[in-house]
Amino acid sequence: MEHLLAISFGEIFLKGKNRNVFYKTATNNIKRNIREIGYYDMYTESSKLYIKADKDKFDSLIKEIKKVFGIAYISEVVKCEKTIEDISRTSIQLIKYYKMDQGLTFKVESKRTDKSFSLTSPKLSAEIGGDILAEFKDLKVDIHKPDFTVFIDIKSSAYIYIKRIKGLGGLPLGSSGEGLLLLSGGIDSPVAGYLMAKRGMNINAIHFHSYPFTSKRAHQKAMDLAKILSAYTGKMTVYSVNLAEIYKAISKNCQRRETTILSRRFMMRIANKISEKYEYQALITGESLGQVASQTIESVSVINESSSLPILRPLIAMDKKDIIEICEKIEAYEKAIEPFDDCCSIFAPDLPVTKPKLKYIQKSEENLDIEKLENEAIDSMEIIEIA
Ligand code: ATP
Ligand code: MG
Repeated sequence: MEHLLAISFGEIFLKGKNRNVFYKTATNNIKRNIREIGYYDMYTESSKLYIKADKDKFDSLIKEIKKVFGIAYISEVVKCEKTIEDISRTSIQLIKYYKMDQGLTFKVESKRTDKSFSLTSPKLSAEIGGDILAEFKDLKVDIHKPDFTVFIDIKSSAYIYIKRIKGLGGLPLGSSGEGLLLLSGGIDSPVAGYLMAKRGMNINAIHFHSYPFTSKRAHQKAMDLAKILSAYTGKMTVYSVNLAEIYKAISKNCQRRETTILSRRFMMRIANKISEKYEYQALITGESLGQVASQTIESVSVINESSSLPILRPLIAMDKKDIIEICEKIEAYEKAIEPFDDCCSIFAPDLPVTKPKLKYIQKSEENLDIEKLENEAIDSMEIIEIA
């Protein structure tokens, strides 16, 4: 039996003429993820990608392929001759191989891409189902809710499989432009980056710290989160910007209650300037409506006014518990809850304005040399490449 991995692509096939580009992008992302593990060959046949590799590498290959967006299923398939006898024999071998021969229900599902094959799909399924029943007296057919399904694809050869692992779904990375993620050290922003990457957006990140008011460890935590995220987003550039002077200027010249909203607007303007230089098309934040006092619709609106780029907020309507669930799934949660101060928590006012008015905020900003403060922060930023 020749074992192969087969990849079925998801949503990308809904997208008409973009389909080839998406397909190529997803295939390249798979290649990049599995290059180090190694495989012999890869080919496509009517909408599936087949990978030849050592069988003992399948588990590690699957683990990496599972991190690629745009995949509906990954299955371990066996390739055989396109004859009823061979298909039947291979199906029976597979059931034995997976030890599924006792007390279970099953069905056979065939798909005939090669229309010249002598039997129609339903007839082939019935025929093979009959052979399986004759071989294993303990198995029963249940076409509605079977314990397992024997899938048969008739192409240039026959491909048979039982196990199907769900992929991440989404669109292949690189098919939806370039975004800049505002990455703090918290739970929300890594999830926001993951979700936009899942929609095919290439992600780079910007992190604001206030060293020496915040520790090196807090900075490292954000870099560690970027590293965890990069398992999904591929290599990523992180711009690390020190806001200490900006916070000092705010606390000297403005009302303490306005610190959060004023600093958020600085973050947006700086992120816009960096995006202009590096050609990012959107900013991404982990804001969620009403989650904290600064995430009111009034704040969202005053923050928006400071950005000419669209600000994408994939968590805006999500509950914290659902955000945490995704954070755990992408293995970022343990890191995200490590207790290090972020710049906002150090300078955060006890009673922040929750319903800021643009004209008052703009009035406060007149007390600051915004251009100079921003340019100094950008000139001294560090650029870190996360592999
Ligand atoms: P998170 O869990 O992502 O830290 P949060 O619930 O703590 O979010 P806020 O602190 O209000 O919420 O921040 C809202 C969003 O603003 C964050 O999700 C992030 O996108 C951005 N942000 C906040 N602080 C920083 C920072 N120090 N560096 C970069 N982005 C930041
Ligand atoms: Mg935070």
